[in-house]
Amino acid sequence: MTTSVTVLGLGAMGQALAAAFVQAGHPTTVWNRSAGRDTELVAAGAKSAQTVAEAVTASDLIVACLLDHRSVHEVLDPVTDILAGRALVNLTSTEPRGSRELAEWAANYGIDFLDGGIMAVPPMIGLPGSSVLYSGSRELFDNHRATLELLGSAEYFGTDAGQAALVDFALLAGMYAMFAGFYHGAAMVRTIGISAEEFGQRASGWIAAMTGSLPRAGATIDSGDYSKPFQPLDFTKAAVDAIVSASRDAGVDLDIVGAIKNLVDRQVADGHGADSSERIFESLNPRAA
Ligand code: NDP
Repeated sequence: MTTSVTVLGLGAMGQALAAAFVQAGHPTTVWNRSAGRDTELVAAGAKSAQTVAEAVTASDLIVACLLDHRSVHEVLDPVTDILAGRALVNLTSTEPRGSRELAEWAANYGIDFLDGGIMAVPPMIGLPGSSVLYSGSRELFDNHRATLELLGSAEYFGTDAGQAALVDFALLAGMYAMFAGFYHGAAMVRTIGISAEEFGQRASGWIAAMTGSLPRAGATIDSGDYSKPFQPLDFTKAAVDAIVSASRDAGVDLDIVGAIKNLVDRQVADGHGADSSERIFESLNPRAA
């Protein structure tokens, strides 16, 4: 039997999620706080619920895609009695701490709870390249996996509901740091008349070529053995010092590259200049499980 699905929250992402369920033929009920965001979905076959209670009652699987952790409580706290015994998937971005709190909250009311982190933008939903990371109830994940796969490849990380959010934010940390580096580079090249757009085209190829080495870098970090450098820290320090100097000469603020220089300098000052550059990782005071 086709699972009936309710989507709570019809922002850009909630609309994309609901559309994927509708297109796959699942009976889909949608609800949004403000009126008028369900028009296209209703035209495509979704049912519009007037209240959260009506929306939750309508389906086997409830998907929440709201703004933040607080809005999830605002919407769902009044309907815990109806949610009891149902399957709730939270695809609202929440910090790991918030996801764990929601899992406890759900357990207190007998709600089966799975937390998810969406690694896609709305137009990617349902297409190759979209993935959603999950943690929390294994049973819910297994029972509804086929439906969840409609959104993007579904991967389960464990019963600790905060794990998917942690991986989500770890990936986003890499993305935001990469974009910040791009903005810095754009500020540099614009001083010689190269547009940020042209630089973006150049940088996308360059950064993509460099990311191939990430698994190797990760393996070095995991081994804890930095004694066989692919690129020694002394070399990296010379490069980063030159980037800082060129940026200063170009009048670009050092917030981004200065932070990288600090991490490198700490390792070199501790006598690790001949070690592999992946040792910069140790400047972050990492803890392993
Ligand atoms: P939008 O800002 O487009 O939509 C936010 C939604 O939350 C709207 O439906 C809004 O309702 C609702 N909302 C906000 N506050 C409340 C509240 N207090 N009570 C009830 N409803 C509320 O965001 P997105 O749809 O883009 O994102 C939704 C979630 O998905 C976020 O957590 C986001 O981080 C996550 N996500 C989004 C991605 C993206 O690229 N867009 C990528 C990955 C994750 P109303 O229309 O009434 O304002």
